[in-house]
Amino acid sequence: MSLDPLVRAPSADADVLLRRVHVLDPRAGIDAPHDVLVRDGLIAAIGEPGGLQPTGEQTEEIDGTGLHLFPGFVDPHVHLRTPGQEHKEDLETGTRSAAAGGYCAVVAMPNTSPVVDSSSLLGSLRDLASRLARVPVGFTAAITRGLEGTHLTEMAELRQAGAVGFTDDGRPVTDAGVLRKALQYQRLCGGVIALHEEDPSLSAGGAMREGSVSARLGIAGVPWLSEATMVARDAEIAGYEDGRMHFQHLSCVASVDALRAGKARGFRVSGEASPHHLLLTHDDVRDLDTSMKMNPPLGFEEDRQALIDAVRDGTIETIATDHAPHARHEKELPFEQAPMGTTGLESAFAAVYSGLVRPGVLSLATVVDRLIGGAALMELPTPTVAVGARANLCLVDLEREWTVGEDGYESKSSNCCFHGRRVHGRVLLTLADGSVAYRERHFAVHAA
Ligand SMILES: [Zn+2]
Repeated sequence: MSLDPLVRAPSADADVLLRRVHVLDPRAGIDAPHDVLVRDGLIAAIGEPGGLQPTGEQTEEIDGTGLHLFPGFVDPHVHLRTPGQEHKEDLETGTRSAAAGGYCAVVAMPNTSPVVDSSSLLGSLRDLASRLARVPVGFTAAITRGLEGTHLTEMAELRQAGAVGFTDDGRPVTDAGVLRKALQYQRLCGGVIALHEEDPSLSAGGAMREGSVSARLGIAGVPWLSEATMVARDAEIAGYEDGRMHFQHLSCVASVDALRAGKARGFRVSGEASPHHLLLTHDDVRDLDTSMKMNPPLGFEEDRQALIDAVRDGTIETIATDHAPHARHEKELPFEQAPMGTTGLESAFAAVYSGLVRPGVLSLATVVDRLIGGAALMELPTPTVAVGARANLCLVDLEREWTVGEDGYESKSSNCCFHGRRVHGRVLLTLADGSVAYRERHFAVHAA
């Protein structure tokens, strides 16, 4: 690919000295207190706690005592709603939301209006991002024209125009022949093929997971079969074509099994899990709160446990939010009619940290690793705390308790499934590609 896959608006390079901060970078093998000096947007030095000096008057000094510094997170799956649905989100608010969640890069889905299926539209989006994006954004393009599942897009041309990869997210590629052909083109042009797995002949009309709760509520359900049969089929196609395939938002035991089996056979397949599938189940749909309506729907407790195990053992390499903003009036509909999706960028770390790390289910290092793991899957550089690297960092107070949504959201939308939840772990500062992308309000006042 000839173009840089990530685009952002210009912003001043940061000069910051973080003193006595606990640095945790699982991939670099760092887990100890350090001083970290950022100069001209680059990590200039990593030293003993209290050992580094500011390089000039412009250097901002931050006392990191009791705080953690991680590599900035990378989300391989977000919906920024531009073009066409800017009442839900736009490139500015979506990337501001990402920065507030500790993300230093995000990958946007192409199921916009119109669909990102031409290089001219991709070019204009990248152009817009180069003026508005608070953190670097990579854009995916559709696998099929108009997401209709029949005719492939001009994949090689889209790659040339900067497409990170290809996905019909929101819809499956039901025609196996079309998917196989896409993988054959991928061999020529590269770029991951990311799949939303769902068999419409099984899922059609369903608004939540088919099971005991859907039966009790009398709501049409989506059987887990709908996802699992497609994951098994497509892993086989990926193996046959030796293609690079990524499974989005996995939600059931059988899908995890199929992914694990594919990997064991040497297939180039990967998977993601969302914070909501790791923390919630169909039981959370009982009150028919439409912020609990997403696609794929929330599963059973055994599915949740299988996803956690897969995140722990690395079968699932990344936690992705599938940040899907919807306007309030759109979600304020009867459950069956409301659109699917939850926002997630601003709550992801705190929700997973509070729900899985603090109770001892997953280690902090594993969660941080999976929150940066999306980068490599999308063939983007993995953020690292290393001298000479661009500063892609997030500073977090693990002890800070807060309520999701209490101060509103940076996102235009508030349809967060964790809204109102009491959590620990607050992102205070995010540096993305060398610039300060976010400063938490109270922290900013305190630091100034
Ligand atoms: Zn999605």
